[in-house]
Order: sequence, then C-alpha cells, then structure tokens
Amino acid sequence: MSGEPERSDDAESGSGESAPRQRFVLEETGFDEVPKKYRKYYRKWKGPQDPLGPNEVLCPVCKVVIRSTRELRVGDRVYCMACFTRFSVERASDGGLEARIEY
Ligand SMILES: [Zn+2]
Repeated sequence: MSGEPERSDDAESGSGESAPRQRFVLEETGFDEVPKKYRKYYRKWKGPQDPLGPNEVLCPVCKVVIRSTRELRVGDRVYCMACFTRFSVERASDGGLEARIEY
C-alpha cells in the first residue's frame, strides 16, 4: 500500500489477467464481537457442516468467519477484528480457501 487514495473495491484495474470477481452483498448476522459498523464482515462459524462461501474464510485463531464484499482469492489479505490477527488467503489441502497467519 502506497499513499494512493483508497479506491472502491470494484476497481478492476483493466489488466484482464483474471476474471472479474463475484460481488456479494453482506448482511448483519448478529455477530457482536466487533464494532457495529464492521459486524456484517464477520459471522459465527457453526462448525464443519457450515459451508463457507467464495467470499468467506475461517479465522484459524478464533473460528470466526471473515466475509468480504467480493470473492476471495489466494494471496488476498484479510484481517480478523475479533482477535486482531492478519492473514493471507491460501489454498487449503481440500481445495478450498484458508487463512494463514502472517508473521
Ligand atoms: Zn480471529
């Protein structure tokens, strides 16, 4: 991140390298461990029977689902506000996405 002003996240820089990301509309799910304005970006994980969407990744520290307004891809950075940990999105052994802690 340089000093550039923040762009809205549909800035698809026109390189054409990858397909446009799917967008998601987030709704609050009653997650109350973060400030109200950020609640829609998190939800409680209900366990292995609770499938994650393409815009969701599980925090391996506190088992909270971190949600994005766009599809997540390998290399993306996510931040869990519930446990203050930064992650990068990696390919999991089962083919899905998982968050790895950044040191
Ligand atoms: Zn967490």
